[in-house]
Order: sequence, then C-alpha cells, then structure tokens
Amino acid sequence: VKWTEGRGWHDAQLQPYAPLQIDPANMTLHYAQTIFEGLKAYRQRDGSVATFRPDANARRFQNSARRLGMPTLPEETFVEACDLLVRQDRKWVPSEPEQSLYLRPFMFASEVGLGVKPANEYLFMVIASPAGAYFPRGVKPVSVWLSEEYVRAAPGGMGEAKTGGNYAGSLVAQAEAAEQGCDQVVWLDALERRWIEEMGGMNLCFVRGSGPGATILTPELTGTLLPGITRDSLLAIAQDLGYGVEETRISTDGWREGNADGTLTEVFACGTAAVITPVGQVKSARAEWTVGDGQPGSVTTQLRETLLALQTGEAPDPHGWMHPVS
Ligand code: PMP
Repeated sequence: VKWTEGRGWHDAQLQPYAPLQIDPANMTLHYAQTIFEGLKAYRQRDGSVATFRPDANARRFQNSARRLGMPTLPEETFVEACDLLVRQDRKWVPSEPEQSLYLRPFMFASEVGLGVKPANEYLFMVIASPAGAYFPRGVKPVSVWLSEEYVRAAPGGMGEAKTGGNYAGSLVAQAEAAEQGCDQVVWLDALERRWIEEMGGMNLCFVRGSGPGATILTPELTGTLLPGITRDSLLAIAQDLGYGVEETRISTDGWREGNADGTLTEVFACGTAAVITPVGQVKSARAEWTVGDGQPGSVTTQLRETLLALQTGEAPDPHGWMHPVS
C-alpha cells in the first residue's frame, strides 16, 4: 500500500516476493524513517490458521508512525494486509509444535530527495517467512550482559517506537555481550544506568516468591522501552492463573540482592520470537550471578506452556486474542 501527501493511502497490491528498486537519494537510506512490526500466524489444532493479536501490533505500529513523523495506517488496513498474505501463504504455516509463519509488516519513506523533513511518500508492506521452533532441543536458559556503556533509549527518544535505528544502535552492545560470553544484552536506563529496561528483542519479567502466591514483576513502561505484546499478554495470563502482577522499577542491585536472598526466584524474557526465554546467568562489569539454580523455573514454564497452548487453539482464549484467518 502506498501513501502520498494530499492523496492518502492508495494502490493496495498483493505481489510475488521480489526485490525493490531503490533510488540512491531515497530518504529512508539517509534519514531512517522506517518502522516495523513482528507477529505470527499459528496452525490451530483443528487445521485452521490464526494470527495472535494483530490489532495490538496495528496500534503499536500507529504509535511508532506518530513518533517518526509518518502517516498512520488504519488498524483495519494493517490487519487486512496480514490476513491477505497469510491466506496466500497458507501452505507455509507449519503444523509442528512451536513453529509458525512470521509476518513482518513495515513502512518506510519512499520519496527521493536530500533535506531533513518528513517525506511526502511512504510504502507499507508485509513479508512473511516460516519460523522454526526457537528451542528445537528443549528450552535452554540464556545468559545476559548488563550494558553499562551503551544505552538503547533516553527519555524523550524513540525507545517506545519499533524503528530501525533502535536496532542499529543495539548491535555494538550485542557484540559486546557476545565478547563477554553472553547470549543477550540487557539495557539499563540512560540517566542512572541502574534500572532494568529490557533485553535485546524482548521484555523482562521477574518472579518474586514461589508457588501460587508468586508475583510477576516487570519494568514499568516509562517511554524508553518497547511495550511488548507478549509482555502485555503474559501479565493478563499471570493474573488469570492467580499470580500477582506489578509494573515497577527494578535495579541491577535489587536484582542481584533479591537473587542472593531468594526473594527473586525466576527471571524470564518474553517476545514474539521465542515467546518465553528463561534467564540463567547474569554478568556485568562488576558482578556475575546465577539466577536461582540456573534452570527454567516452574512459574516460567507454566506461563510459557499456557501461552503456547492458547496460540495453537489447545487452550481456551478468554481474551479473544486469536484472530482467525479464514
Ligand atoms: N523489546 C524489543 C526491543 C523488541 O524488539 C521486542 C520484539 N518486538 C520486544 C521487546 C517484545 O515485543 P513483542 O512481545 O511485541 O514481540
């Protein structure tokens, strides 16, 4: 779908996958007006296909567009575009457990010109790719590096938007994490470098206590982290299961101390790609610790299985999150 100043959205098309021709003065290449989303279509137990909360992705896409000075795509157009592609690619939606068809809606400036201003032309597209199981050999906890040198987002910045620049800025920190022998980077706040924000491409949740009385803690949405749809879904599921839920501030020292005295029992990351990933090891320039016994905890496992069962139609969908694509 194209957008042109004065004309709005027009020329929706379903086309075979093919390269785009890009003008060297395409404004996106220089000024990075680019936003995207990620969501999945899952094969249901009865053979039908459904996407998970596409309306929520559509709304986050609108928020990203506003932050980047881009036009907002109507929610129905976003969802309809995803539906069209899934219908076309139906045979590529796997039926194996934990596999899916990943959808990547995105929008960028398509105007040609030099000069920093919001573009007058944009292109919205959706592409798809089958996604295998994130943990083909069983769920394995990840190790994380607390980045004190690099920051993902500052107050007033673009942290809440899903825009390419946020990911470009994260690559060097991800490389640093790898040099430290860690799988993922964990971002801290820009001002004090001690409040936990999120992981590379996932939000973080902490479990306080254990058993039915446990509480799920997660950093509050202050504008510098991405409001994950998996995060939002898991907070609702945790409440459905009877757990407490708190959106709060968690410091690196609070994490280390809570882990040492046993009040914080489990930590996991959540996002569309892996759904839930337990965190097993933590490392910073000053400290290093193992989360609990380093193995996936029982609350983490229960939340993971509950959400996966909902996404494949094996468990009820009390919130009406599954969007059937007929
Ligand atoms: N934070 C970041 C930086 C991400 O890229 C993602 C993945 N979109 C998330 C969190 C998790 O968001 P979601 O649950 O919507 O996939």
